[in-house]
Amino acid sequence: MKKYLLPVMMLLVFETIAFLLWLTKDNLFYLFNFSYIGMAVSLGIFLYIRKNRFARRVVQLLVGLYMLVYLGLICQENMQIEGFWYYLFTGVFEAATIHYAVAKIFGPLLFGRGWCGYACWTAMVLDFLPYRVPAGPRKKIGWIRYIAFFASLGFVSALFLMQVKNLERIMFWAFIIGNGLYYAAGVALAFLFKDNRAFCKYVCPVTVFLKPMSYFSLLRVKCDQDKCVSCGRCRRVCPMDVDVTDNSRKRKNGTECILCMECVKNCPKNAL
Ligand code: SF4
Ligand code: SF4
Ligand code: SF4
Repeated sequence: MKKYLLPVMMLLVFETIAFLLWLTKDNLFYLFNFSYIGMAVSLGIFLYIRKNRFARRVVQLLVGLYMLVYLGLICQENMQIEGFWYYLFTGVFEAATIHYAVAKIFGPLLFGRGWCGYACWTAMVLDFLPYRVPAGPRKKIGWIRYIAFFASLGFVSALFLMQVKNLERIMFWAFIIGNGLYYAAGVALAFLFKDNRAFCKYVCPVTVFLKPMSYFSLLRVKCDQDKCVSCGRCRRVCPMDVDVTDNSRKRKNGTECILCMECVKNCPKNAL
């Protein structure tokens, strides 16, 4: 039973957040929201321990679809980066800002890019494409993410400066159109570069937050150098080109690790 301690602990962490937010903000939504996400994540860890090969995909679909369909389309909460700027500028500390604080700004100090591996609704679709591992070397076009980042900031700033009316409605449509553009760009780049995660590597504006914060992540895949035989298999199965055999924080593409555990599952010496 000891091996199931981790999913139970994870559920308790999420339940604590759920109860704290419910009681401090007097809003039942937070109890439901964080309990649901906690159950999805705990189920994923449970399935991983049971060696179910779809464990990560199950969490990705449970959380990703909930965010996209329920929060985004039904509740009309813009959870994209534009929504984050919008709620930040209005001074409302609600779903989108809490989501960014927990999943993308402060959370990565604890669990790195776990969001990207287990919850993102963009990657949820991209991971169904045929290029799980990049076919070629990495391109030097990561600067595109900064253009996307400042474009989103500029767009929302302009709406506020021009005192545009019906901002809630505009943000809802920005969510629909923005998601459409992300999916279109993500699929096109995946086929162009033969790499499902090309969008994550070069375009996604959220990585401007995620990369520096995950540099300090507590949760990391580490290599036992005494067991490693330098076969290179971990590098060949990694979707993010991480040099996981290097234990230093400066390892190549270290801030891109999405904790998918493909390297761990494939290491013939159980060195990871
Ligand atoms: S890099 Fe962006 S698109 Fe990719 S998984 Fe992370 S948040 Fe989603
Ligand atoms: S797969 Fe395992 S043994 Fe092979 S290089 Fe990676 S860590 Fe070392
Ligand atoms: S294969 Fe390993 S190093 Fe690469 S992203 Fe997944 S967990 Fe991280």
